[in-house]
Amino acid sequence: MKIKRPSKDLYYMGIAQEVARRSTCYRRFFGTIVVKDDQIISTGYVGAPRKTKDCLEHGNCLRDKLNIPHGQRYEICRSVHSEQNAIINSARAGVSLLDATVYLYGEDPKTGKAIEAFPCFICKKMIINSGVATVICSTDKGKVKKYKVSTWANEWHKNDIIDDKTQYGKKENKKATKRKTKKRKK
Ligand SMILES: [Zn+2]
Ligand SMILES: [Zn+2]
Repeated sequence: MKIKRPSKDLYYMGIAQEVARRSTCYRRFFGTIVVKDDQIISTGYVGAPRKTKDCLEHGNCLRDKLNIPHGQRYEICRSVHSEQNAIINSARAGVSLLDATVYLYGEDPKTGKAIEAFPCFICKKMIINSGVATVICSTDKGKVKKYKVSTWANEWHKNDIIDDKTQYGKKENKKATKRKTKKRKK
């Protein structure tokens, strides 16, 4: 009998996907797991702070209601991002994330399909300072994309942070603007 085992990356991404299913926001499901020496040392999903009312309980997502494009205006988001929760949960457990690997899985809850996941600005900054070495993100083709965190820091050292080329929701922002312009013409 031939048994086909998943690669380590897809195995961990599958666990991150399961974690994402606990998300409490309609907009996007995200799950993060942190792996070090082949052990899962922390997990996190998108969710409102402990013991507060989340988007599902409110029956709406504020940012959805106000039509805010992905990647913008995080100050009016009820949730703590999955990467942030993974970092916070490691502090609760007293576990260091130095040189660890983050797996980030993203999904559109409306379609149940994986998306090109990528940390937002705020999470990127936190990931750099947490000491995580590698970030592995889900793609919409069911594969993974790897990023070296030191490259992000180097890029931001050379250019300004606001010149960031890779940004979550950038494409979607463009589409959103296009849609708006089309509507206006009608
Ligand atoms: Zn929400
Ligand atoms: Zn984030």
